[in-house]
Amino acid sequence: MIDTSSDASDVQAPSSHDYIALEERYGAHNYRPLDVVLSGGLGSWVWDVDGKRYLDCLAAYGAVNQGHNHPRIVAAFVEQAQRMALTSRAFRNDKLGPFYRILCEMTGYQRVLPMNTGAEAVETALKAARKWGYTVKGIPDGQAEIIVMAGNFGGRTITIISFSDEPQYRAGFGPFTPGFKLVPFGDADAIERAITPNTCAVLLEPIQGEAGIIVPPHGTLKRIRAICDANNVLMIADEIQSGLGRTGLLMACDHEGVRPDGVTLGKALAGGMYPVSAFLADDAVMDVFQPGDHGSTFGGNPLGAAVATEALTVLRDEGMVENAAAMGRRFGAGLESFDHGSIKEVRQVGLWIGIELWPEAGGARRYCEDLQGRGVLCKETHHHVIRIAPPLVIGPTEVDHALETLHASFDHLG
Ligand SMILES: *Cc1c(COP(=O)(O)O)cnc(C)c1O
Repeated sequence: MIDTSSDASDVQAPSSHDYIALEERYGAHNYRPLDVVLSGGLGSWVWDVDGKRYLDCLAAYGAVNQGHNHPRIVAAFVEQAQRMALTSRAFRNDKLGPFYRILCEMTGYQRVLPMNTGAEAVETALKAARKWGYTVKGIPDGQAEIIVMAGNFGGRTITIISFSDEPQYRAGFGPFTPGFKLVPFGDADAIERAITPNTCAVLLEPIQGEAGIIVPPHGTLKRIRAICDANNVLMIADEIQSGLGRTGLLMACDHEGVRPDGVTLGKALAGGMYPVSAFLADDAVMDVFQPGDHGSTFGGNPLGAAVATEALTVLRDEGMVENAAAMGRRFGAGLESFDHGSIKEVRQVGLWIGIELWPEAGGARRYCEDLQGRGVLCKETHHHVIRIAPPLVIGPTEVDHALETLHASFDHLG
């Protein structure tokens, strides 16, 4: 009921529909989001402008591993924002060194190159690999080749989409950057065959997220490591989505005890509170960068560094990686009893789950919309896969709630 006695009688609070209309009217149409307008969140839960609560089973594509608005990360953010946000790398700041140290201590790499978005970290890795190829390996200038995997996702810059095999990511955006060779994902033999004296690096996601949580057979990463070693080729892992606990270990490569020569991180590096990404490597690779070779106005800024330092600290101190493993087991056990005709395959590592549907099921989107109606948010990837990636702080009650809701949805839609 509208209270007509008030002065504001004809002013109603804007609803979801109003916000959606604004986005559609003024924004570029480069996304097709679910029609849920979120305005707040805490831990594994978010709520919309109409006051409805949802269990977040996407976690901003894994950027919110530490949960929404983690109080310690918020406190670090606010405190640093009040002191200083940006110095540029023309000067030093008192937050960058401590961020480098905790990241190196947690990952075991010697050096960090900080950027902002994931795509920039991947670009940094590509530049490092090429320059290493020319200055260390001795590849003739302009000839360096990088081997990449079918189904890859590394971001949206022109160079990165140049090696994508997803037609929509490329259509209309050429000409493309040369120097990449595409092989089937997880096919170590194909990698070996693709290597030439001009190959400087193999770039891969240890588990492919956008492609639908594609997990290579156990032992593949080890074989790729050995092939790279035997051919003096860098192995570079893009752990932007798979890293920082998502799979139940700090890095997805840890499942095979493999240590790549370079690693990209992003997404959860600053707990989803701020865009911070990084390329990690040891001296032998990172030393190819001289002052002026590469940089970013915002890369390594004190606000991002302070937030990322706290995001890494809570990930470690609050046992989130271990919780991801335990809750992943609980989720997996619950999914075992799923017996719905529309499900072709369930793939899972830790708290990263892809439910692939048969094409006849009519696409994963309608399942995500139905789940939205039931108060669980997740997102389809590549038409037929429901991707489930809750924050790593999710608890057993919430996992059970997600399972029950998925059951209800599949019972309803078939
Ligand atoms: C998300 C993602 C990126 C790109 O990150 P942006 O921050 O969107 O640029 C790169 N690689 C992988 C594996 C990703 O999942």
